[in-house]
Amino acid sequence: MSFDCTACGACCASFRVDFHPSDGEAQGGRVPEGLYDELNGAIARMRGTDHAQPRCRALRGTIGQCVSCWIYEDRPEPCREFEAGSEACLRARRRHGLAAG
Ligand code: SF4
Ligand code: SF4
Repeated sequence: MSFDCTACGACCASFRVDFHPSDGEAQGGRVPEGLYDELNGAIARMRGTDHAQPRCRALRGTIGQCVSCWIYEDRPEPCREFEAGSEACLRARRRHGLAAG
């Protein structure tokens, strides 16, 4: 089963998204300031992703219909590594009531 991420977005509204603070703009990285918080010297976290009902601040649109990441080119490492069709992907889709194969 293949998935169209632009009609999904479930993973951006399911998991904490942590990355090294050096990837954040404040330390010369790419992830824009204002979209993440530095928790300590080793962890920065996308805003909105640690809420009881997570939703990354950079996600635009309606989950399961039409979405986009408005920092797509500058998104942090975990987002780059996340694979459509992986176990985590399917878990996120189920959480949002979307078909998961
Ligand atoms: S930065 Fe973009 S790809 Fe990563 S969780 Fe947020 S909206 Fe999704
Ligand atoms: S949950 Fe899977 S299909 Fe949906 S946007 Fe994320 S990677 Fe793509």
